[in-house]
Amino acid sequence: MTMEKPAVIAVAITGSVPRKKDNPAVPVTVAEQIESTHEAFEAGATLVHIHVRNDDESSGSDPAKFAAVQEGVRRHCPGMIVQFSTGGRGREPAARGTMLSHRPDMASLATGSVNFATMIYENPPQLIDALAQSMLDFDIKPECELFDLAMLYNAADLVKRGLLKPPPHVQFVMGIKGAMPARRSVLEFLLSELPQVLPGATWTAAGIARTQFEVAQWALELGGHCRTGLEDNIRFDETRLAASNAELVKKIADVCGKYGRRPATPAEARQLLGLRPA
Ligand code: ZN
Repeated sequence: MTMEKPAVIAVAITGSVPRKKDNPAVPVTVAEQIESTHEAFEAGATLVHIHVRNDDESSGSDPAKFAAVQEGVRRHCPGMIVQFSTGGRGREPAARGTMLSHRPDMASLATGSVNFATMIYENPPQLIDALAQSMLDFDIKPECELFDLAMLYNAADLVKRGLLKPPPHVQFVMGIKGAMPARRSVLEFLLSELPQVLPGATWTAAGIARTQFEVAQWALELGGHCRTGLEDNIRFDETRLAASNAELVKKIADVCGKYGRRPATPAEARQLLGLRPA
């Protein structure tokens, strides 16, 4: 008899940084993205975070491509949660929400601006409000991307103003230079605030680059959900590149038991995050 608590493993398959050359396993075309997602699904992922690329592999915003990846995922990965990125890199502000009309289950919503190592990730208040309103209009659950402490309280302000339905889902993004460090004490502080600031919220912790596996294990231990994938980290470990998104997902799925967890089924993942059934 198992008492293991299900954990949602999200896989961020592609991202927006043009780095296919750094790891050829990063899926770039729609067909590659669907195939990579399917492999990750079979390995235990129940949520896919999607960016699309232009034909020259730069960051794209073509709604038709988002729709094509979503259709492929829905066909090949029954019940998997589809999440579109509204992230900024390489995309004009006006283009960042244009794919929401295809009604994915979820979409990412950064609730503030932050300095990354070499750029500003710009999320002005008017854009955040417009994306949040659009997600309400299309019945899409946001995943609030929290890159810095203030963004937690900004999310609460969205709830207060009726732009974010409670209880929300948040993701703590840790380990990006210029943003929150991947320190367990920081995660524990965020979790101590969460019940009062966003009552009932569910949460994921995402560690970037070499912090990915360690942060995922903190999340498993502390009762949250985790994210992996080639968007955040192209390495399996210090000695070699990841062979695929599925390999990164399997690494997390395999360690779940150590923390009294197991990968959620798609139906469980939807229930845990308060989403409609597939
Ligand atoms: Zn992303």
